[in-house]
Amino acid sequence: MKIHRDTAVSSQSYENGEKIMEPIVGIDLGTTNSEIAFIIDGNSTVLIENDNGIVPSVVGLDADGKIIVGTEALNQTVIAPERTVQSVKRLMGTDQRIPMGDAAYLPQEVSACILKALKERAERVLQKPIGNAVITVPAYFTDTQRQATREAGEIAGLNVVRIINEPTAASLAYESENTATQTILIYDLGGGTFDVSIVRIENGIVEVLSSTGDNHLGGDDFDQKILAMLTTYIQKELSLDVTQNPVVMARLRRAAEKAKIALSFEPFIRIEEDHIGKQLFKNIHLSYELSRIDFEEMIEDDLLRTMDSVSKALEDASLLPSAIDKIILVGGSTRIPQISHMLENKFGQTPHGEIDPDLCVALGAAIQAGREMGLNSSSVLLDITPYSFGTSAVGEVDGIYTAHMYVPLIRRNTKLPASRSDAFYTMYDNQEHVEVNVYQGENAHALDNVLLGKYIFDLTPSPAGSVIIAHFDLDINGILKIQAIEKVSGNKIEAVIENAIGRFSESEISQFKQRVDDIWRHSETDTPAAATRISLDALPPDIKDILNKASDKMEHAPDEDRDEIVNLMEDIQDAVLENRLDDARSMAGQLEEILFYIE
Ligand code: AMP
Repeated sequence: MKIHRDTAVSSQSYENGEKIMEPIVGIDLGTTNSEIAFIIDGNSTVLIENDNGIVPSVVGLDADGKIIVGTEALNQTVIAPERTVQSVKRLMGTDQRIPMGDAAYLPQEVSACILKALKERAERVLQKPIGNAVITVPAYFTDTQRQATREAGEIAGLNVVRIINEPTAASLAYESENTATQTILIYDLGGGTFDVSIVRIENGIVEVLSSTGDNHLGGDDFDQKILAMLTTYIQKELSLDVTQNPVVMARLRRAAEKAKIALSFEPFIRIEEDHIGKQLFKNIHLSYELSRIDFEEMIEDDLLRTMDSVSKALEDASLLPSAIDKIILVGGSTRIPQISHMLENKFGQTPHGEIDPDLCVALGAAIQAGREMGLNSSSVLLDITPYSFGTSAVGEVDGIYTAHMYVPLIRRNTKLPASRSDAFYTMYDNQEHVEVNVYQGENAHALDNVLLGKYIFDLTPSPAGSVIIAHFDLDINGILKIQAIEKVSGNKIEAVIENAIGRFSESEISQFKQRVDDIWRHSETDTPAAATRISLDALPPDIKDILNKASDKMEHAPDEDRDEIVNLMEDIQDAVLENRLDDARSMAGQLEEILFYIE
């Protein structure tokens, strides 16, 4: 595949008084959504104009034959597909005529409608006409596709000052002011397409080294998977076939997308849709709980395919993962936490998503537009957290079970304000309390991070594996609010840590680490059981069976045996946590013998 290299995105050619001083806008003309951005106030602020920064790339004719673009057009796709066009970007560079109403249009004409709508919005904000634009395209776009994009601009009344590659724009958004040479990987997963590119940036000049991906993979596929799961559930459990009802299907698709988005921040979500049909004159309602873990399993194959493309991009650029200095996340779907985890595992560094991944390419295009106008490159000002914040749980670190595995909830470089939740599970039947430890830091071992707070949460009696949700809220002033919620009862504890971000410097952190290590060494023996994220799965199945049997039989045991059973149960679990499986098995054998004599 031929890659179009952006090797000249500095504004050198405009330095001899030949600057274009009319406004130039930056436009990300996307498959699913498009955005426009521009620089105001000289060179410092980049502003995105439109409803919430995003216009769906959908064009239609309304019932009166008037052109509609964006959300309005998107809303009529189900009821009037013959008058609505989606994903026109896929056809750019072809001669295919796209039917819409009574006529058929070239892809350039349909794209021009989207550009025109964006231009009008920007003109309303800037209060002046806009005639110039920088437009982004995928790195793999051919000359014909680039030419078609230029033509779309001209049809919309825009002089296309420059076409730049999307990964180039994304790297400009992050690195326009950094002069160091860097190799950057851009992982771009939107609604309908996936691209991964590797660029080298030096003195503001960006070169695309490789680019690959999948033209038909994105968030829409994930919505589709949730939708398929919901229709199967509705068919099986509610005895209703909704697949032939386009209006209900459209509602469920919207609910599926909403659930998917919520699961990026919450471990569970309840999908509720009323009146999805009737059975014997009774209205049928849907109420279904989906967990993040189940959703991640649904999309695992798709995510693994994206990682194959990442490997291919490295191979094409003849680079090892260690050669990548920075990873940038682009596209709304990269908010799915599992994506950051996968990249972090492969590259050993936290990917950057602090510039809104939906707007990052448009912001980069606006920075390039600023350069074309002779303005110094503009930085995108952001409030981000320089540290991760999380809690601890029982789990595996470097192949060894520990009660102090660090589980970051809000990761370093997350844009503020931020709020994230995760689920944890009790270890024992009727566990009386759980300890919620709050840490700041990046180490896999919680004890190597800074302990900000320690809270004991009393629980209601319930079986092992009961869910506790930890919820962290961090605002721009560094105030961290923590909640632990017992799912079964709704009981919760809350705490506030003031000035969580500005509290400690790196050297203070290492001093604290030493102190915390000491405190822990002395208090470890009487620490209440931590919650476990791996719950009972941490226990080998044969040992788990015996422990379960022991909890069942314990209440029928004579007093003297009960004490011994409890002691053995605790010793077995400690042995498993310390990876002494032979000891655990031998004690499990003793326990089984005692249980044998109890009815
Ligand atoms: P884009 O084409 O880059 O605008 O990305 C749009 C896609 O991102 C759609 O499929 C959205 O549902 C998806 N998306 C947006 N926000 C989130 C989120 N928080 N978690 C998961 N997917 C998201």
